[in-house]
Amino acid sequence: MGKKPTIESLVKKVGNYAPDADLDLLKLAYDFADSAHKGQKRKSGEPYIIHPLATAHILADLRIDVAIVMAALLHDVPEDTKVTLEEVEKNFGPEVASMVKGITKLGKLKYRGVERYIENLRKMFVAMAEDIRVMILKFADRIHNLSTLDALPPQKRYRIALESLEIYAPIAGRLGMDEFKGRLEDLSFQYVYPKEFQKAKKIRDERLEGKEVFIENIQKTAKKELEAAGVKINFIHGRKKRLYSFHMKLQRKNNETAKIYDMVALRIIVPTIADCYAALGILHTIWKPMKGRIKDYISQPKPNGYQSLHTTVLSDTGEIVEFQIRTTDMHEEAEFGAAAHWHYDETGAKRPAKKIQWVKELAEIQKDVLNKLSDLEEIKVDFLQSRIFVFTPKGDVIDLPENATPVDFAYHIHTEVGNKCNGAIVNEQMTSLDTGLKNGDVVEILTDKNRKGPSRDWLKFVKTHTAKGHINNYLKSQGGLLPAWFKKNKE
Ligand code: MN
Repeated sequence: MGKKPTIESLVKKVGNYAPDADLDLLKLAYDFADSAHKGQKRKSGEPYIIHPLATAHILADLRIDVAIVMAALLHDVPEDTKVTLEEVEKNFGPEVASMVKGITKLGKLKYRGVERYIENLRKMFVAMAEDIRVMILKFADRIHNLSTLDALPPQKRYRIALESLEIYAPIAGRLGMDEFKGRLEDLSFQYVYPKEFQKAKKIRDERLEGKEVFIENIQKTAKKELEAAGVKINFIHGRKKRLYSFHMKLQRKNNETAKIYDMVALRIIVPTIADCYAALGILHTIWKPMKGRIKDYISQPKPNGYQSLHTTVLSDTGEIVEFQIRTTDMHEEAEFGAAAHWHYDETGAKRPAKKIQWVKELAEIQKDVLNKLSDLEEIKVDFLQSRIFVFTPKGDVIDLPENATPVDFAYHIHTEVGNKCNGAIVNEQMTSLDTGLKNGDVVEILTDKNRKGPSRDWLKFVKTHTAKGHINNYLKSQGGLLPAWFKKNKE
């Protein structure tokens, strides 16, 4: 972490990128958390407040929206202190409180057997679907916990690192948050695979030794030539390959380090797409591109939406360098993904909210995690598989058992929606009420206000207790559960 994080430096940091932020309230959030955690210590012996403060700094370093930074300061208050969520809400408003609530629901680092673990995972998916900001906060929380793992016993250290590497990092990756993914991976790597970590570090350091001056020169030349040709550069910087991703690549390339060309990549961020292609052309007039190494992820984005132009060139001295060229927008998207909307770019602007299409990705993420888990634990996990996530047309997520039907969905929304439901549109198609829903389905319920109540037949296909209960209650209120003909005969 370097030097100790303070509230003063946090306020200064946030003020620098978010001119509209209420810095007094930010300071108050700190004082509030500080007094709530008074007397509590971390395993390392430090005062507890260091943890929420460091978590807030991690977010502020990434220029994240101040509401999330405030929630970070307060994130452990309801779970660990006598101060309640209601008091957090009274002082800091519903937006911050709802994030604190989300993270509190996720719970802390507790391992009570596989079942509890899976249950926590399920909670995580729901929390994530409801408000992605809770996950942004959770990632920062985890990054700080990982960077202070040395204070924990080895077995616990290993479990936390393994969970971060196998579950948190891939989720960050799927959400397009490369910055978080890379940090989660590199912090966990040394605890999960210590030998491989040492090996990767040694090879990387050897390959990069004494290259700083060379990299700097390449960067200067590129900048000078591009500007001479009239291409505006928003910024340019060199990036060492992260250790874990280097390790994975080494394995894919059968340990042939010579085949890894992006040990250092130079990133060039320009204003427009036209500038990207112009820059590529100019670089190729200075240095010879390597055959088969020019990749146009602008016209053909990667499956996760990543866009950039990549090229690998040979320098005059025979060294190999990779360039990555993209617009500011593409860069924000690549680094922050689903979090980009809450991130201030260099010009102090925030990006418009995107349609929450990514939420559908959750189904895929679930599958990934499940595969990972069954490798990891060598057990058949069916808890997550037995749940599905479906969406309202507005994008709210509803968590239901597998094969639940539109009627279950309707009762989940509201009793009256269930009682009056008359039809369903699933993924823009009219669908019968007994259809089994699938992960990611968008469900709209059609109601008829003249409808008297639910049909007895629905009991044959509904899957949730909620739906069954409401239907039975209605039937009872209509004179019991006996069929109509029976009642008639009795009269
Ligand atoms: Mn925490």
